[in-house]
Amino acid sequence: MNVLVVEDERNLADAICHILQGGGYKAEAAYDGPSGLTAAKSGLYDAMVLDVMLPGMSGFEIAHELRRAGNSIPILMLTARTSTTDKVEGLDAGADDYMTKPFEAPELLARIRALTRRTGDVILDEITFGDLRLDLNTHDLSCEGRAVHLSGKEFEVMRMLMGSNARVVSKQDLLTRVWGMDGEASENSVEAYVSFLRKKLNHLHSKVQITTLRMLGYRLEKLDR
Ligand code: CA
Repeated sequence: MNVLVVEDERNLADAICHILQGGGYKAEAAYDGPSGLTAAKSGLYDAMVLDVMLPGMSGFEIAHELRRAGNSIPILMLTARTSTTDKVEGLDAGADDYMTKPFEAPELLARIRALTRRTGDVILDEITFGDLRLDLNTHDLSCEGRAVHLSGKEFEVMRMLMGSNARVVSKQDLLTRVWGMDGEASENSVEAYVSFLRKKLNHLHSKVQITTLRMLGYRLEKLDR
């Protein structure tokens, strides 16, 4: 297994290569966007670790360009610690998974293992969390054989929550990402859609719930029930 690391901070790039080599992978680094894209297209690599902020071309642009060209190399995107929008944008651009900096070596190896276990032709078309599966093409949310269809806004809210993987998403983030410049929308709109989604999760008998954190926002939680 050969992993490409695209990261312009050389110390970090070399550290990631070192960790991967310690995990039994071959690893090579590219230090800017365009050379990372060229290397990713070479067909020599089984997976790539891709930073977002890169000189010449961002990680989002690289992921997007690879997917547009039909290249399905598994991509683990490195995002800034607190940026929910980065994660969503990364997944939208075609990344298969993301990891926030700073991270620990075991987490990196576990994520790369998971990515390279998948077959080569998998392109992200669903997000999973707990017992839930969200189909990014049909907008169906399913849980153990049951499924419901999500409306446009419900889908966007759910995708952000699932894409954040149990981390807190603020109402303001949801409002900006899902409603954009719609001046009519307010935090009440977010609350209304969260309540629709809670009903749908109930209907699905999912063990996942949307938890409200006062003053902070929402996050998904897996219940034992
Ligand atoms: Ca960088």
